[in-house]
Amino acid sequence: MFFFRTNDNAAAINIGLMGGTFDPIHVGHLVTAEEARQQFDLDYVVFVPTGNPPHKEKEIITLPEHRYLMTSLAVMSNPYFFVSSVEINSEKPSYTIDTVKHFSGNEKEGPALFFITGADAILEIFSWKDYEKLLRLCTFIAVSRPGYSLDRFRETLDQVCPDMINKVHLLEIPALAVSSTYIRERVALGKTIKYLTPEPVEQYIKKHGLYLTG
Ligand code: NAP
Repeated sequence: MFFFRTNDNAAAINIGLMGGTFDPIHVGHLVTAEEARQQFDLDYVVFVPTGNPPHKEKEIITLPEHRYLMTSLAVMSNPYFFVSSVEINSEKPSYTIDTVKHFSGNEKEGPALFFITGADAILEIFSWKDYEKLLRLCTFIAVSRPGYSLDRFRETLDQVCPDMINKVHLLEIPALAVSSTYIRERVALGKTIKYLTPEPVEQYIKKHGLYLTG
């Protein structure tokens, strides 16, 4: 396991786990991770591209190797950002509970984990495997695009599981107006994606002919 401070007197370490399909990664994801790092005093943010998302069995998703490599290219210039292959290297369905357990380790004083992902995804958390255990193991940062109704989210949360309110923080990120879907659509239409994703990712997409068919 990486990322543990060796000094016994050091304050507990905070790790952000940035979960997503990243098909492809874009500036919205990067701005989100950096904002979360600063607001929540995170020591590192580890991007975790999904392997076999159980909720997307019928969707066509780009090969995990491509998504992992694009994510690695995108985070290269930030010393606080890392990428984990824990989900893409597993043939089992990617359940967040398994990923979080992987990072929490066995130590009594393990790191404080913050799972960062889209508010839309977190809204469905009550259908996730072992969600109650998951809520005990980490704090969630639910990220929303501008215009997303945070009230609806709070209401749902309050109805379904009032205790959870303290375990979920909401973060509004204007740059999330960019989405992976938008990028895929633009590539399929032959439109430029310059500045929507870091240049090495743009080049990677071009080189491998990704998203040409939408
Ligand atoms: P998704 O349905 O693809 O995305 C939902 C929305 O959230 C989209 O608008 C998406 O925008 C945005 N989003 C996704 N990841 C984001 C991130 N890290 N930061 C900001 N916005 C983000 O969601 P998903 O990628 O499949 O799932 C998100 C995470 O939840 C993954 O880590 C997944 O493994 C986990 N999850 C776990 C379970 C389970 O354990 N049973 C079930 C569902 C999801 P973009 O398309 O632009 O990214």
